[in-house]
Amino acid sequence: MKLYEKYPIHLSNSLSGEKEKFESITPGFVGMYVCGPTVYNYVHLGNARTFLTFDTISRYFRFLEYKVRYVRNITDVGHLEGDVDEGEDKIGKKARLEQLEPMEIVKRYTEDFHSVMRQFNILPPSIEPSATGHIVEQINITKKLIDLGLAYEVNGSVYFDVKKYNQSHHYGILSGRNIEDLMESGRDLDSQDEKREKIDFALWKKASPQHIMRWPSPWGEGFPGWHIECTVMSTKYLGETFDLHGGGMDLKFPHHECEIAQATGANGKTPVKYWIHSNMLTVNGQKMSKSLGNSFLPSELFSGSHALLQKGYSPMTVRFFMLQSHYSSTLDFSNDALNAAEKGFKKISNSLSFIKKMTQPISSLKSQLSSNGLDLTNNMERMIKSCYETMSDDFNTAKLIATLFEMSSTINRIKDGVLFTDQIDTATFNDFKSTYIGMMEEVLGLKEETGGNNDLLDGTINVLINLRKKVRTDKNFALSDKIRDDLKAIGIQLKDGKDGEMSYEIES
Ligand SMILES: [Zn+2]
Repeated sequence: MKLYEKYPIHLSNSLSGEKEKFESITPGFVGMYVCGPTVYNYVHLGNARTFLTFDTISRYFRFLEYKVRYVRNITDVGHLEGDVDEGEDKIGKKARLEQLEPMEIVKRYTEDFHSVMRQFNILPPSIEPSATGHIVEQINITKKLIDLGLAYEVNGSVYFDVKKYNQSHHYGILSGRNIEDLMESGRDLDSQDEKREKIDFALWKKASPQHIMRWPSPWGEGFPGWHIECTVMSTKYLGETFDLHGGGMDLKFPHHECEIAQATGANGKTPVKYWIHSNMLTVNGQKMSKSLGNSFLPSELFSGSHALLQKGYSPMTVRFFMLQSHYSSTLDFSNDALNAAEKGFKKISNSLSFIKKMTQPISSLKSQLSSNGLDLTNNMERMIKSCYETMSDDFNTAKLIATLFEMSSTINRIKDGVLFTDQIDTATFNDFKSTYIGMMEEVLGLKEETGGNNDLLDGTINVLINLRKKVRTDKNFALSDKIRDDLKAIGIQLKDGKDGEMSYEIES
């Protein structure tokens, strides 16, 4: 029996709005697609949360012994300013402003994206296709939609005919929006008179003379619309109907709604069985946004170089912090919450290094255990089961972490000599150990940060920090500077925080 049969997954399907039992189209195999980044800028934290969510979900599928094909694209063309059909291509604009080739922009920010993903221990997808690598397929599906009467060409641009599609299908099936309302409220822009209806969206856009990124097509030189790339790349690598499609909640409409319409229109079948949307980030209770000045980049969070942050937090602390909330809840960043996460992570991470070395001196059988040993064994079995059941219940990482804390307390009692491993049934002991390690490392993707010496290092540097405070009070600034400089020379940087508090950071 496979683990996915023992612990079947139930997930909240955004398409039905209900929690459903997950049944993959091909038994034992999961095909999943997640909308990747538009590589015209540094990846922001909200995006990092989305990719972390789906990394954890794909990890759990694998942990349950599914074979997973995970496709996450790179949007390197077609995503216009303001997510609409008018305006400048985000990458083209950046290229113009920085006087670079668009592909230089793409390369720079793709590398940044990959480096942030590695820092967060987010595993690479199985396939990472790019929009510019699939222009031919995008032209072909556009032709097909025209042939089927679901798209029309005007002045070298091609638009999807939403009203026509809605005669035989349901536009709004995912977002719950109503086509009549949408036809009323669509944005009114100048060249929208090209479109038959405001809600129609571009499959292909004619390139203006100054537009840099352009390809030949049956309708003249142009570039693909943003929604069509995901339809093409998901169905090309996963089939016309696949198991799971994910993305941030902000993509539900119009992007995902359009994806469904294009694929259903072209292939005659619904493309995705289960949709999952991850929620947004807030900072001190406010929406994270550039204009409010409260949006920080992952690198700023790691280094602490942002006015709103008291200090830097390691990538694993931030990963742990994000996993403490269920993916469907908003996640609020605050110094207090991050500090608490740092402590919490240290606790379960210390237990991880201890349990890896933990052995059982004498093997014991459940049938021969004392009543205390039997209680402990039963308790461990309950915690093991709880790990799987919480994750199989809509990937509830928050509840899984609560169970890991409980397991960590048991590990600490063994460490402190209050409980003894030879009192535990051997099979249960081994299962407890491998479940703790597996849930931490393979499912949650949490790594120990500096081995087991974290506390010792922390303690030593705190002795030096306090010593430095003392010599500064005594106005011995020469010695104070020497302590700081000598630490810096070995790669430890002291940082002065608010209220005279000092922290340190290890330079990598
Ligand atoms: Zn997409």
